[in-house]
Amino acid sequence: MSSIKGSRVGLPLLAVVGSVCWECKEAKQDGTSLSRCKGCNRAVYCSSKCQKRNWASEHSTLCKALRRLNAGPKASGKLTWDEFKTLQILRYSMIVELDENGCQKPEAINHARAVHYQPKCENCLRTPFDNVASETFRLTPCDDCKLAFFCSPNCRAEGLEQHQQKQCSSLEDAGACELITMDHIKETGEAMIQLPSENPRHTYKPLHTAQSWKDYFKDVSNSLFARYITKEFSPADDDNACLQACRFLKIAVDSSSLILTILAGLESEIPSLASRTKLTIHIIGADDQEIRRARMPEDLYHLLPKLQHLVVGYVGPDVGSAHGNTTKLLEFECCPKCQSMGRSPRQAFLADDLYHDFAESDLFAKYPPDLIIAPNSGHAESQVQRWQPTLQCILELGVPAVFTTYNRNEAVDEEQIFDTMGAHFSKRLAENPWRGVLPKFDAFMERYDVFYFNYYWYIVKGRTDI
Ligand SMILES: [Zn+2]
Ligand SMILES: [Zn+2]
Ligand SMILES: [Zn+2]
Ligand SMILES: [Zn+2]
Ligand SMILES: [Zn+2]
Repeated sequence: MSSIKGSRVGLPLLAVVGSVCWECKEAKQDGTSLSRCKGCNRAVYCSSKCQKRNWASEHSTLCKALRRLNAGPKASGKLTWDEFKTLQILRYSMIVELDENGCQKPEAINHARAVHYQPKCENCLRTPFDNVASETFRLTPCDDCKLAFFCSPNCRAEGLEQHQQKQCSSLEDAGACELITMDHIKETGEAMIQLPSENPRHTYKPLHTAQSWKDYFKDVSNSLFARYITKEFSPADDDNACLQACRFLKIAVDSSSLILTILAGLESEIPSLASRTKLTIHIIGADDQEIRRARMPEDLYHLLPKLQHLVVGYVGPDVGSAHGNTTKLLEFECCPKCQSMGRSPRQAFLADDLYHDFAESDLFAKYPPDLIIAPNSGHAESQVQRWQPTLQCILELGVPAVFTTYNRNEAVDEEQIFDTMGAHFSKRLAENPWRGVLPKFDAFMERYDVFYFNYYWYIVKGRTDI
């Protein structure tokens, strides 16, 4: 799962399937097709200027890897999903560089995406780089999503219905959301769409009174955006503006998910939450994704009227690799309304230690956590041994710790690990009401499965024998 959790904004799905230029991320306006890199036959460009720029910045390295990929293991005939998955894992291991801990290096994110998103026939699961007759093998897109492909009228006839039932609309959404995100980056320079509540609340409205994101936007955050979505997070209306607003919200929810999961954890673990004036949260295993969403913690000020002083610590080895900094304290001015309510600037620190080492530091002693959260940590999926002392430390601290996962299987595996450690569960695994709503894909999952940010959650607090 580390593929999507990389610290950079990686190649969009739209680029990997050849719909937008790999450099400027735009489609050609005049309808002519993009030109293909002669080296790898995968990268596409709108102009030679973009191609040159992309070559200099990253493609010279990526192109070499992609040529290795093209020469790699090949399918000859129609594949089952399991056969395809095995090939994909081989392909991934051929071109994605891992660090000494077996984790994907952050700079390998585009290598990974080239594997996960490579266009294939949805029916026979072959790609143009398999053993196919290149004169006759042409992938043509699904008319609706334009992100799934078929290699022949036969394959289309056999595969289209399944695709339309199980996949088409989420792919269409994913592509449209990528376009919105790319526009946002161009307009604002910000890679993350963040939508913290606009105004601080004056009375506390518990989050658990909301049953859906729509309830949250309408009754808790009092956001005008509530009117664009239904309780099921579909567009409330069938006009285009509403559809676009709904998609914008879906992207924003990827940023809100963590902070609302924190708030839900606080509500469940701290009975006096509504009257608390100070809170310290530790986000562990944090990386660039969490740090770039630095505006979101303001939500805790806006949703907890009594809160005056908030400290958020981002702890984990990837914090350092993303920023080249070790321990440092940052201050974020809160909004003018919060200032007039006498609130201190939000404080944050980055510590690029493993959590159990960090727990020995002066900084920890100065800012001990009221709540720990480990978003999408995957601690049962990779680096299991390396996580052990951290999990041990968390249980010994006896501080409530929220864990989230990308899918149910991960959560089941993690619960098992904590059970063998004698953990006390304040909350057993469940689907997180504040999970992301934008489906994510990679090629290692079961057919048609998708995952979400913070999809499942559970809370541990100390051990049963303490
Ligand atoms: Zn371009
Ligand atoms: Zn190339
Ligand atoms: Zn086919
Ligand atoms: Zn489709
Ligand atoms: Zn504010």
